[in-house]
Amino acid sequence: MTVTQLTLEEFRNYARLSLSLSPGVNVIYGENAQGKTNLLEAVGYLSAASSHRARYDRELIRFGAGHACISAELLAYGREFTLTARLHRGARRQLFSNGVRLKTAGELSGILTTVFFCPEDLYLIREGAAVRRRFLDGCICQLRPRYGEALAEYRRLYEHKTRILRDCGTKPSLLDALEEFNVRMAQVGAVLIHYRAHFIKRLREVTPEIHRDFSGGREELDLSYATVKTIPDPQAPAKELLPFLLEHQRSHYQAELESRQCLSGPHKDDLQVFIDQVSAKSFASQGQTRTAALSLKLACREILYQETGEWPVLLLDDVLSELDERRREYVLRRITGGQVLITCCEDVGPAALEKGSVFHIRGGALV
Ligand code: ATP
Ligand code: MG
Repeated sequence: MTVTQLTLEEFRNYARLSLSLSPGVNVIYGENAQGKTNLLEAVGYLSAASSHRARYDRELIRFGAGHACISAELLAYGREFTLTARLHRGARRQLFSNGVRLKTAGELSGILTTVFFCPEDLYLIREGAAVRRRFLDGCICQLRPRYGEALAEYRRLYEHKTRILRDCGTKPSLLDALEEFNVRMAQVGAVLIHYRAHFIKRLREVTPEIHRDFSGGREELDLSYATVKTIPDPQAPAKELLPFLLEHQRSHYQAELESRQCLSGPHKDDLQVFIDQVSAKSFASQGQTRTAALSLKLACREILYQETGEWPVLLLDDVLSELDERRREYVLRRITGGQVLITCCEDVGPAALEKGSVFHIRGGALV
């Protein structure tokens, strides 16, 4: 899919902007704090109805303005779409596709899919398991609506169970409901594990080759899925996973009461990343960390393409810094197939690009 035209009104530091984008690589460059990330954020917003960095929609509205509007014309699935998001201070946002009001944000992701890479994604390799779970969840949600439903239910159950464990000291009667929560959490947890296992299987097929190419054949990346220890085969149907989850819960029952925390379930899952057989989390260099994180995102993009037949729009924020010449070249010339929007601080020059456009942004305007 391709975003052909992007129009912003009162969005972040843009009073008004209209941009015609190329179907290939679009480089957006400029000094710090000029509005490069804001541009990618706007495109990302139209696919997820949420920003990768803003907590509230009102942060996206230009200081002093009452409303903001993001609009994009795009080609997807052989059709033309105009997607529009109107944000208002103090009122609900409105989403439109070809002028028709959308009821849910989920309807957007069926039209525009994006894969976003931002500097914070370095944490994907470096930090605790929570960020990698978020990555997995984000990808699988774009592919499988049922997964999103299960995830939302699991989160509700988890919060409820945590409250029971926290408060049962003063109110022992709360424990009566614990068994019921445990069973439902195991049932829904089994669904999550099943989907995650299958998605990670796909990631394992796709990511190593991308990473090998990216590193000029120097590095081997591998992935593994760490989930509830009693499970012999996470790819098994959810029904078959259930008894193993219940068994694990039982063996942690006392420990959960003592620690007052949920200790058993897929909310502790991890996607382990290895480069040349050692843990990337502990040993990867800055550049390797960036390469591995980007390889994972590119793999996600490829899987989305295989599943939907359309390349998601790739949004790369500030990815070129810290990459050596070979890796930069890979980003600018070898990511083929779909549309790419990439920000950087310096003009990469037309020679670095096979085909595409270069935009210079200064103070929320196109130079
Ligand atoms: P860098 O190279 O440092 O990443 P950038 O070009 O990506 O810079 P952006 O993150 O896009 O910069 O932000 C540009 C500017 O937008 C910031 O100076 C910020 O103060 C401003 N800005 C953010 N939100 C709003 C808003 N709601 N209204 C007006 N300006 C805003
Ligand atoms: Mg930026």
